[in-house]
Amino acid sequence: MTWKIKQRQQKWLEGERGTVRKDWGGKITIALAFPNRYAVGMSNLGFQYVYQALNRFETVVCERVFYPEPEDMALVRQSPGGLLSVESQRPLPDFDLVAFSVPYENDYTNLVEMLELSGIPPRARERGSTRPLIAAGGVALFINPEPLADYLDFVFAGEGEALLSEFLDFFKELRNGSGSRPEILLDLAKSVEGIYVPSLYEPVYGEDGTLEAIRPCAPDLPERIPVRRADLSREDPCRTAVFTANTEFSNVMLLEIGRGCGRGCRFCAAGFVYRPVRYHSAERLLQAASPECGTNRIGLVSAAVSDHPEIVDLCTSLLDRGGSLSFSSLRADTIGSRILSALEASEHHAVAIAPEAGSERLRRVINKKLSEDQIFRAAEMLAEKNILNIKLYFMIGLPTEERADLEAIVELAKEIRHHVLHSSRGKTRLGTVTLSVNSFVPKPFTPFQWTAFAGVAELKEKAKWIQKALAKVPNVRVHFDLPKWAYVQALLSRGDRRVSLFIDKVARENFTWTRAMRTSPLNPDFWVMRERQQEEKFPWEVLDHAIERNYLWEEYRRALAEKESPECRPGKNCRKCGVCGP
Ligand code: SF4
Repeated sequence: MTWKIKQRQQKWLEGERGTVRKDWGGKITIALAFPNRYAVGMSNLGFQYVYQALNRFETVVCERVFYPEPEDMALVRQSPGGLLSVESQRPLPDFDLVAFSVPYENDYTNLVEMLELSGIPPRARERGSTRPLIAAGGVALFINPEPLADYLDFVFAGEGEALLSEFLDFFKELRNGSGSRPEILLDLAKSVEGIYVPSLYEPVYGEDGTLEAIRPCAPDLPERIPVRRADLSREDPCRTAVFTANTEFSNVMLLEIGRGCGRGCRFCAAGFVYRPVRYHSAERLLQAASPECGTNRIGLVSAAVSDHPEIVDLCTSLLDRGGSLSFSSLRADTIGSRILSALEASEHHAVAIAPEAGSERLRRVINKKLSEDQIFRAAEMLAEKNILNIKLYFMIGLPTEERADLEAIVELAKEIRHHVLHSSRGKTRLGTVTLSVNSFVPKPFTPFQWTAFAGVAELKEKAKWIQKALAKVPNVRVHFDLPKWAYVQALLSRGDRRVSLFIDKVARENFTWTRAMRTSPLNPDFWVMRERQQEEKFPWEVLDHAIERNYLWEEYRRALAEKESPECRPGKNCRKCGVCGP
């Protein structure tokens, strides 16, 4: 049976450019695991970066492992080796370390399933021998590692550029020694800043079930784990390492132009956990996107691409080389003539804008700082350049949202449609306005960490209302996410270690989420639907992002008072959050 799986992996390898294959002799062996399918993992720049970065060390061999394709699941379950690495097709227990890269909370159950499929006891305390150690990193873990705490030997709390070299130096020594698993983990936790070993920390709960503390269980351990940040001015930009036709970005080189976002939108975790915003210089980026990389199709990636201080020069130089460009995100207020020309030259016919909320009032609550006029102007300018398909991102269930805010979404969509159709008059194609409406999930380390999730029934009702209001409007389409999955995401991003009970049921006993929640002695609403008190301790505060809690609370109060706050601009006037010092 295993040969069928091997055959599929062989096909992947044959279709790739940039694969790294190394001899194992004497090296630290790392299985870099992605808890989703090959196509999803290979489209993820963070995963691609870690693969490239680890293999740059001569002392390391890093191979990739993915969650099985649906049609292979039965075969993997029957095969004695379980999951195999793509490069040398070895089972996970052959490696020194299995390191998961986890960008999305809803993949947590896949991570647990992957351990079980590989014959590795999923819960850390059930694992006896030292090999392999099981670790994880990625943005979901930066935000809150606690729901996965019982499954992981350790967590990488920090950006790879800041952490990997020091970790590998230390890990090499430990691997050559004779320490037991607990001894190795204690040594790691004490020696490498940014390594969090959950088994060395004990949560204490009060009678009402709220968290009172997470206490270190050994002397010399930090109370909170400082999250490590990279100095990007000294680093090469992250870019696609392995090209494959089997991804969303086939033959496009994704290039990270900056990290974090200075806008301070209050719902967005990336805007807080990656502070301060940092950019690569245009010079470095042009080197990274040199013609030798084998493609001139470049995808510029960052939380707000058009905020890069040298974006015009960068686009001009890349286009002058005959390249085509795409942008992971554009702000309506920064779409200027050069970016429009870049979109036109790259033959884009659709662009996404994210008003996030329909009314000016609600956009003040979330600190989006985008006026209706700016949105209309952007739609008109895009249409003038023949970009007639506009995608609009909105959220429903935001704090303080009322019916008037939903009505404003409908009115805004109609108005944009009017602008697009007006501009496309006389052209052969008519434009389409597509709304992507997603349920708001309050995230850790944001000013909305205290607020409650709106609830599945309420979100369904709101979605239905918007759908009905726009049903008869031609050239407008509406897509919604499923509120039940947003509920699960809220549970997994806001939970503590006790939510592993639900993860176990889904990953190990094959329950649906609905059944896991209905049959559990714990009520998931405790984590999802409860508004928190100002002083309540949060499980994610075991990590220290250096953002002051008072700053976030004050931002929350300002949100409820509909007050905007200035942007995060290092070296300039800011509402000091603590990251750049007092
Ligand atoms: S201290 Fe100011 S510039 Fe630094 S991260 Fe915080 S808001 Fe941004």
